[in-house]
Amino acid sequence: MSQAQGRLDEMVQTLKDRGCRMTPQRMAVLKVLAASERHLSADQIYRQIKVDLPTTSLATVYKTLELLKEMGQVLELRVGAGGSRYDGAHIHPHPHLICTSCGEIRDLEIDVPEEVSRHVVQETGYQIVSHRLDFIGLCPKCQAIQTNNTP
Ligand SMILES: [Zn+2]
Ligand SMILES: [Zn+2]
Repeated sequence: MSQAQGRLDEMVQTLKDRGCRMTPQRMAVLKVLAASERHLSADQIYRQIKVDLPTTSLATVYKTLELLKEMGQVLELRVGAGGSRYDGAHIHPHPHLICTSCGEIRDLEIDVPEEVSRHVVQETGYQIVSHRLDFIGLCPKCQAIQTNNTP
């Protein structure tokens, strides 16, 4: 079973357990999220689905994302004025690389050490439920464009 299929099954099961009706439109949102290695915005998800299911509305996409968020089945990344991007493939908090020029968001394959969380708990008394670690900069492609544009 592929990782995407595993994630899809998990999302479907969670929604069904909650008594949510599975419509073809809702199923399509889940499929895009489970399979995507990119971090899509609600609008990008909507446009992908609309090709095959023209009856899909942006509201359906938002509602499905909202449900998944509530159940911890999607990771929401707020990225400045551009709104939110969604990661349905990897739902546990993980570090991201964000390009300030083209907006690309990539997963970073490193773990945030457990002792960082422990340290934060000790220092602040917070009960930690999640964390974010973003590395922000210029991707190689955008660097190349910048270099080419400099006289
Ligand atoms: Zn870039
Ligand atoms: Zn991610």
